[in-house]
Amino acid sequence: MKVYLGVPRGFCAGVVRAIDVVELALRKFGPPVYVKHEIVHNPHVVQSLEAKGAITVEKVEEIPEGAHVVFSAHGSPPEDFVKAVERRLNVIDATCPLVTKVHNEARKYVREGRKIILVGHRGHQEVKGTMGQTDMHLVDDREPFLAPELDPHTPVTVLTQTTLSVDDTQRSIQQIKSKFSDVLVRNDLCYATTNRQAAVKELSKHVDLILVIGAPNSSNCNRLREVASSHGVPAYLLNGPEEMDPRWFEGVADVGITSGASTPEQLVEAVIEALDPEDVVMIDGVEEDVSFVLPKELR
Ligand code: SF4
Repeated sequence: MKVYLGVPRGFCAGVVRAIDVVELALRKFGPPVYVKHEIVHNPHVVQSLEAKGAITVEKVEEIPEGAHVVFSAHGSPPEDFVKAVERRLNVIDATCPLVTKVHNEARKYVREGRKIILVGHRGHQEVKGTMGQTDMHLVDDREPFLAPELDPHTPVTVLTQTTLSVDDTQRSIQQIKSKFSDVLVRNDLCYATTNRQAAVKELSKHVDLILVIGAPNSSNCNRLREVASSHGVPAYLLNGPEEMDPRWFEGVADVGITSGASTPEQLVEAVIEALDPEDVVMIDGVEEDVSFVLPKELR
């Protein structure tokens, strides 16, 4: 068997920063440090930080008054910051700067008199944070398209969740454009999402099967699996080698492996080790050199 590795894969700059934030906060303030929502959507990352003294909670109300809390990379609605002030919490915001950019865009375009349509997945943590910024309408590409009830001449700005499928998002944007005459589209899919999906498309040319290593609640991992399937290659999303099923590999000579933006590389290495291939080949892909500065509390 030959393994082809997607390039780029794994951690993005926003995830590296969010993990660094929790580790540095633990070192600077001592445990426990609370984390509102999983810091990133990967159980291995969450558990390794919890072993060092982080405590993950879903609601601000669960955090004792006066504690230190890191808000997750996905972004939070303003009401969570208000509740944190009421509880005298010391908040360190690990929201990815590329998500903060979408929050800022939403408020800016509303000030300019435009209505906001967010293309995103209902219920995802990032969408909850973005929808809390200002009044906006949601279009979810997994649901039948329903145009927001607005006059067709209303100026609208289209924002997107950062981790959607490039192709599905284009489809939603075309549907919105067919209903409104004044549409301004911002490209909010982040570089990591775009590059990892391009890598899966490239991988799919070389292999019989694609394994996406990552968590089932990770949006960008799910999109990678869907992109592989839509290019005609059977694809599975798995946390690690223990979830592999020998039946997947019957008659398979070339296996593609990639991982989402919140997946540690050690899990990819563990899967390769379990497969024990004759050869491992890296496909050609974009080199990333993005990094973000830490929040001011930790600089
Ligand atoms: S996937 Fe993109 S938006 Fe999300 S944390 Fe990574 S860089 Fe930021």
